Amino acid sequence: DEKPLYAFLEKSAKQFPKKKALHFMGKEMTYKELHTQATQMANYLQSLGMRKGDRIAIMLPNCPQSVISYYGALMAGGIVVQTNPLYKERELQYQLIDSGATFIVCLDILLPRVTNVKGNTDIRHTIVACIKDYLPFPKNLIYPYIQKRQYNMVVKVEQSEETHVWEHIMDVALSSFEAVEINPIEDLALLQYTGGTTGHPKGVMLTHYNLVSNVEMCDAWIYKTKPGEEIVLGVLPFFHVYGMTAVMNNSILIGAKMILLPKFDAGEVLKTIHKQKPTLFPGAPTIYVGLLNHPNLLDYDLSSIEACISGSAPLPTEIQEQFEKVTGGKLVEGYGLTESSPVTHANFVWHERRNGSIGVPWPDTDAKILNMETMDEAEIGEVGEIAVKGPQIMKGYWNNQEETDQVLKDGWLFTGDLGYQTEDGYFYIVDRKKDMIIAGGYNIYPREVEEVLYEHEGIQEAVVAGIPDLYRGETVKAYVVLKDGYKLTEAELNTYCRKHLAAYKVPKRYEFRDELPKTAVGKILRRQLVEEEEVAEK
Ligand code: ATP
Repeated sequence: DEKPLYAFLEKSAKQFPKKKALHFMGKEMTYKELHTQATQMANYLQSLGMRKGDRIAIMLPNCPQSVISYYGALMAGGIVVQTNPLYKERELQYQLIDSGATFIVCLDILLPRVTNVKGNTDIRHTIVACIKDYLPFPKNLIYPYIQKRQYNMVVKVEQSEETHVWEHIMDVALSSFEAVEINPIEDLALLQYTGGTTGHPKGVMLTHYNLVSNVEMCDAWIYKTKPGEEIVLGVLPFFHVYGMTAVMNNSILIGAKMILLPKFDAGEVLKTIHKQKPTLFPGAPTIYVGLLNHPNLLDYDLSSIEACISGSAPLPTEIQEQFEKVTGGKLVEGYGLTESSPVTHANFVWHERRNGSIGVPWPDTDAKILNMETMDEAEIGEVGEIAVKGPQIMKGYWNNQEETDQVLKDGWLFTGDLGYQTEDGYFYIVDRKKDMIIAGGYNIYPREVEEVLYEHEGIQEAVVAGIPDLYRGETVKAYVVLKDGYKLTEAELNTYCRKHLAAYKVPKRYEFRDELPKTAVGKILRRQLVEEEEVAEK
């Protein structure tokens, strides 16, 4: 395990030089080419003065440049700061200042945003990947990073002392770099900001060892993969820790061909599966829901898919079963968080699994449940906070000892998630500690109410949140997206909920919406809905 993360790419480039590593919009690149371009990037960064430990923000959707710059930066000894390309100036500036990044890689269309905030940060060099040159992005997949009409207005970026154009780098850089001594256990590979579902994003410090361990666990878990033969669907964003580990780094470890999609579009994903025949498809519940609800779902051949892992949010059993039926592959649920690189639990892909459970702890990973009041280990079946320990657990939060001390104790990470364990070691998530609703003295877990809503035939998506209430402190509100063409009134939905839930858990308010706000991995932003409610109150 004790090697730098980029050793995966060196290994696959040696073992499978001619195998395809990347597929992007019909163009492909071999492992040898990918490795060469990553070393060129390392060489160029070093020529700009990059030293071990310098932070480099990578603000790209999934594209070859995102993989090349990530590996190139690590080879040069840099610490990658993954930056969501959807970030607006305020969010971008926060992350650049907090991380102290001195380099940034972005698309030409994002350059105005970077230029506007750069002066307030330590950024010295900006590397620009152009959406129309090198490997062009199609218009429909560059939205929502810009508006569609802006595509034709993109101006050519000129090479200068501070701004570096991708093509120029690939023309002038040598494919050799100065080896930087890395201590995988101590040295950071990544500053990964948390999704911000529950609060201000925090910079999670992940070492080379953390990431290498989690990727190796991932491979050991799926275990039937054929090195050099797999095709992985890369629709989860690599700027999020889940896509980074389960798609990008795992593909490179096993010498798979990775199909890169810069955004999730159900029709595009179905077409890609039909044509490119991926075997592995890591995803998230909202992605699978989106595909199953596509009107032309049955026109596509999805039978190449063998294994899918769903993480980041609870996977409704309905969705799991339907997806397995249309693909013939396995879809299992896993669990993790940014602070653990991210995966700590999953169901077995090829053995027994439990629907509704996150599975068992991964190899080398310990997990326990703690009683919320006494902090002693809980009984079997008793709900408490989940704590995890293993080689994938972060070093701490960047520049934030106080928060680090709250969640890391004796090597155990306190996840903030509530759950319980069965006699034979399967874990179940009940909810997040922070999401629990306390209404009139009762504890209500949004997830339980959401499950009832998802079972309704007319409901496509639903989220439940505690909103401020004068009498009960908080009260339960459901936000619901109906399936296309389905009609349902508030009164009908209320009758349905009363039939399936104890009175105190039944939502007191309902709101029908066309869509729900989501994070980059498609996690529904409950906090944003609650904030809207609080603003409306005032
Ligand atoms: P923040 O921590 O900033 O609020 P975030 O929740 O989006 O943002 P992540 O690290 O991306 O941060 O998400 C980890 C959380 O996702 C876990 O703590 C857990 O609550 C939830 N999660 C992950 N997998 C599952 C799952 N299978 N079932 C239920 N919840 C899950």
